[in-house]
Amino acid sequence: MTIQALKGFKDILPDEVALWQHIEATARNIFQRFGFNEIRVPILEKTELFARSIGEATDIVEKEMYSFSDRNGDSITMRPEGTAPVLRSFIEHGLQAKLPVQRLYTIGPMFRHERPQKGRLRQFHQMSVEVLGLNHPRLDAELIAMAWLILEELGLTTSLQINSLGCPACRPAYKDALVQFLAARTEHICEDCQRRSQSNPLRVLDCKSSHCQEQYVTAPAILDHLCPDCDEHFKQTRASLDLLAVPYTVNPFMVRGLDYYTRTTFELVTDALGAQSAVGAGGRYDGLVEQLGGAKSMPGIGFAMGMERLVLLLSQQNADACPDTETDLFVAALGEEAAVAAFPVVHLLRRKGLQVAMDLEGKSLKSQMKQADRAKARFVLILGEEELATGQAILRDMASKEQRQIPMVGPQEALCAVLIEAVAPDRNN
Ligand code: ATP
Ligand code: MG
Repeated sequence: MTIQALKGFKDILPDEVALWQHIEATARNIFQRFGFNEIRVPILEKTELFARSIGEATDIVEKEMYSFSDRNGDSITMRPEGTAPVLRSFIEHGLQAKLPVQRLYTIGPMFRHERPQKGRLRQFHQMSVEVLGLNHPRLDAELIAMAWLILEELGLTTSLQINSLGCPACRPAYKDALVQFLAARTEHICEDCQRRSQSNPLRVLDCKSSHCQEQYVTAPAILDHLCPDCDEHFKQTRASLDLLAVPYTVNPFMVRGLDYYTRTTFELVTDALGAQSAVGAGGRYDGLVEQLGGAKSMPGIGFAMGMERLVLLLSQQNADACPDTETDLFVAALGEEAAVAAFPVVHLLRRKGLQVAMDLEGKSLKSQMKQADRAKARFVLILGEEELATGQAILRDMASKEQRQIPMVGPQEALCAVLIEAVAPDRNN
C-alpha cells in the first residue's frame, strides 16, 4: 500500500506553482504600494488565542480547529486564520512603537477540519492584511479598494458585498430583535440554528442551509439598528468607496464566520466556484487588540484572500496569466569529449542569467532533441564529434528551424558572449 496525503491536504504540484507564484507576486507588489510590511508568524499557537478571538460559539472554534495537547499537556492549535496570531505578535513585541505604519501582511497555510470540496480544503492558504490604530472610514474603503485592485490586476471578475455589524453599543438591541424573530420560527430552522439562537444568534444568518436562508429573508436587518456613530461610519465608508469607483452591493445579512468583527465587513464573491463563493473577506475588529490584552482603543481592520480559490478562478478566467516558462537554450553535447567541453560553458551561461538545460549523460541526438522539446527550448546548440573537430557548433532556432554556425574555440567568456548575443541579445552586457 502506498501512502497518500491526508484527506483535504493537497500537494501543489510543479505545473500549478507558476499560478501560485504569479498570484503571490501580484499581491506582494500591491501590498508594498500601499505601505504594508510583511510579518511571518508561527503555525502553532495556544488554543486560547483562537477561542478568545474568533469566539467559542463559532463553527471554527466549535468543530473545525486542529487542536491537541502537546507533550507537556498544553492545548495547542494549528492556526485556522491569520488575524489572531498577527495581533498576538503585534502586542507581544510592542510593534506599535517600532513600525513606521501599522500595516502588516502575511501569506501562509491555515488549517480547518471542514468537509473537503472543490475550493475547500483542510490545509488552505491565505494572503491576509491587518491595519491597526486607525478607525477612519477612509481606511475601510482604502483596504477594500486594495483587495479589489488585487483581483483587477489578476484579471479576475468578482462582486463585492459590504455590511456593517455595528458595535457593542448598538448590537445588543439588534440581537434582541433577532432572537425574538427566531423564537417565532424555531420549527422552521435547522438544529444548529435553533441552538445558535441561544448561544450566538447572529451566527444563524451565516447558515449554509437554503431552507434556513429562506426564513431569514424577512429577518430584522442590522443596518436598521446601527447607532448614530456606526451609521455615520458606514455612510462614510460607502461614500469613500464611491470616490474610488469601487462597485459594491450592501448585504445587511452578511455576518461573517468570526465573532470579532465590528462595523464594516465585506466579502468578494463569485458564482464560478459552486458553493465556495467567497474568494476574500474581512472587516473591522475594533475591540480585538484590547480583548487579546493589548492597548485599549487600538482599532483594527483586515481581510484575507483564499489562494486556492484564486488559483481556481485564475485557471478558469485568465488561463493565459502565466505562460509556461521556456528554456533559452538546450545544449546537446554528443559524446564524452563534447560533454566535457560543453559542461563549463553551460554553467557560465547560467551564471550570466540564461535558462539553460543540458543532458548530462550525452545521450543520442534524437533523445536530446526530444528533451529540448519537452523543456520548451527556444534554441538548441548541437556539439558532436564533427563540430568539435571543426570548432563550429550548430545553433538551431526551434521556432524558425533555421540553423547557423557558432564558433566553439577561444576563451569561454567570449564564447558565451557570442551565444547570448544569438539567443537572448537583451541579456548581453
Ligand atoms: P466560507 O464561507 O467559504 O467558509 P469563511 O467565511 O470561513 O469562508 P474566512 O475565514 O473569512 O472564510 O477566510 C477568508 C478566505 O479564506 C475565504 O474567503 C476563502 O477564500 C478562504 N477560505 C476559508 N476557508 C477555506 C477552506 N477551508 N479552504 C479554502 N479556502 C478557504
Ligand atoms: Mg468557513
